[in-house]
Amino acid sequence: MQKTVHIIGAGISGLSAAVRLTNAGCRVHVHEATQQPGGRCRSYFDAATGLTIDNGNHLLLSANRHALAYARAIGSESGLVGPKRALFPFVDLATGQRWQLDLGEGRLPLWVFDEARRVPDTALRDYLALMPLIWAKQGKRVDETIRCEGTLYRKLVQPLLLAALNLDPPDGSAGLAGAIVRETLLAGGQACKPLIAREGLSAVLIEPAIKLLHARGASIHLSHELHELAISEDRVGALKFGSDDTVALSPGDAVVLAVPPRAAASLLPGLTVPTRFRAIVNAHFRFDPPRDLPPILGMVGGLVEWLFAFPQRLSVTISNGDRLVDMPREELALAIWRDICRAAGVAGELPPWQIVRERRATFEATPAQNALRPPTVSAFKNLFLAGDWTATGLPATIEGSVRSGDRAADHVLALRRA
Ligand SMILES: Cc1cc2nc3c(=O)[nH]c(=O)nc-3n(C[C@H](O)[C@H](O)[C@H](O)COP(=O)(O)OP(=O)(O)OC[C@H]3O[C@@H](n4cnc5c(N)ncnc54)[C@H](O)[C@@H]3O)c2cc1C
Repeated sequence: MQKTVHIIGAGISGLSAAVRLTNAGCRVHVHEATQQPGGRCRSYFDAATGLTIDNGNHLLLSANRHALAYARAIGSESGLVGPKRALFPFVDLATGQRWQLDLGEGRLPLWVFDEARRVPDTALRDYLALMPLIWAKQGKRVDETIRCEGTLYRKLVQPLLLAALNLDPPDGSAGLAGAIVRETLLAGGQACKPLIAREGLSAVLIEPAIKLLHARGASIHLSHELHELAISEDRVGALKFGSDDTVALSPGDAVVLAVPPRAAASLLPGLTVPTRFRAIVNAHFRFDPPRDLPPILGMVGGLVEWLFAFPQRLSVTISNGDRLVDMPREELALAIWRDICRAAGVAGELPPWQIVRERRATFEATPAQNALRPPTVSAFKNLFLAGDWTATGLPATIEGSVRSGDRAADHVLALRRA
């Protein structure tokens, strides 16, 4: 008999679980609290710039195999675009120095043996000194595992880990940093090709999923916030969305709770979840990118960390952005625009701009917070957890979200077979 699965939350984790479950023939209902699916990965029209922008620039790497499989499953893999080779141009705003990291196309990090492809002024021994990260224990911090100083640290390790962990790398979990290094740098250039959703996050990663789910008979209920999980014995017996809006579950029905950690903890008292978060700041400027500007430019020695060139728009990302959340918006926009002018070689008045500050962009990727992440299985037989904050072994990323959604779906399917 076809079983019903209710998915709570239409972020990437909920949608990936929904796609996998409809693929397997389940009847799926997705319930999303807000008016728009996508959660922390979405686009919207912004009146200040007159453009459709993303809540944040999202970078994927070719190593993100679950995220790519999800994009393939919803028919939008071609919307994730990037260079054929893993090339990362950088500029140091403090010195004006420019260089290009060329990780090549292979399955081994052979580029570290080639001085011309390495970070300038670094030697092979600097790269070998990163090895302890690869087998680091979960409880260790990055600064307890590798030396957080020197040229290689400042020009490669710091920008990479800051982007991946969204906190000052020395404080970060060495276990999570090690997972990133194992899956990317250590896996050679073929794993490190940068990919972006040039047409927008919603157009590439969200709307095609919704379309596919509708076509497969799934229902998507927007503005439908779950208020209570009614428990009967060892399972969820009903979902309460409002005083006169309760969905009773039949035996064999299942629930995937794919909401952020605070919402999950309030729906499931006693659940251990990460309690501390870090912000990410994005700024978007309506400005035609110069022809010679690469699609993604790494920046060190300034305020901005990554500059993205989109059609009609220059956008930047600043991770670990808590220090900037209360800064006056105009002042912040001007400071960022000054960095962009130097990096992109452009000049002029501040163009139309927008600043998006996501205060709880990711859980704090410290060893202590990482230890609070719960597994997929819950205390209740028919309830499974998903989300980038569950115990995926990765920091809060799209790849982690998709893995968590896939894993929750696999548990639901195993339950059906049992
Ligand atoms: C600014 C920014 C930049 C980022 N950059 C990158 C990047 O470059 N690369 C990368 O890989 N990752 C990046 N990330 C992380 C990535 O966006 C997240 O890991 C991913 O989107 C999380 O998806 P999720 O489904 O786990 O959670 P969410 O996206 O938080 O989805 C949870 C959903 O549940 C809904 N919900 C909450 N409560 C209820 C309820 N009671 N009932 C029903 N629905 C409910 C919410 O509205 C939301 O839609 C970035 C994140 C941000 C914010």
